[in-house]
Amino acid sequence: MKRIKIDRSKCIGCLTCVSACMVAHDSAESRNRVVISSDMKFSPIFCRNCDLPECVYTCMSGAMRKDLETGYVTYDKNKCASCYMCIMACPYGVLKEDKETKQEIMKCDMCADLPDGPQCVAKCPMAAITLEEVESR
Ligand code: SF4
Ligand code: SF4
Repeated sequence: MKRIKIDRSKCIGCLTCVSACMVAHDSAESRNRVVISSDMKFSPIFCRNCDLPECVYTCMSGAMRKDLETGYVTYDKNKCASCYMCIMACPYGVLKEDKETKQEIMKCDMCADLPDGPQCVAKCPMAAITLEEVESR
């Protein structure tokens, strides 16, 4: 499976990845963000599609699911109870609710519908976000 890899040392905080995500999902909100870490460096925060995904383990409605074929964690808003357990459980603080309805979870879907894959990767001018092949467990 392919996984997003971040090289913080290359990030210049331009937020192109954030706007690329919003455009890709035709959404006013992004599924990623960039923060300034305690060592004063730009730090892109992205879903890691964890091997042991806490968001999946805590989701009682089955909305968060680990796809064993692709290795990605998927989200089905039709099953979501908007309880926010996944938001509280994600150790990386990636997830958030949509600001408008507060019913949907903003979860990276690896731009699965787009032929050229995750747009944050495609559009980052510094190649700070890349895709790496990892072994799925
Ligand atoms: S949302 Fe958080 S816990 Fe779930 S797969 Fe992504 S990084 Fe892991
Ligand atoms: S908010 Fe939705 S996706 Fe998150 S744990 Fe609750 S039911 Fe599952």
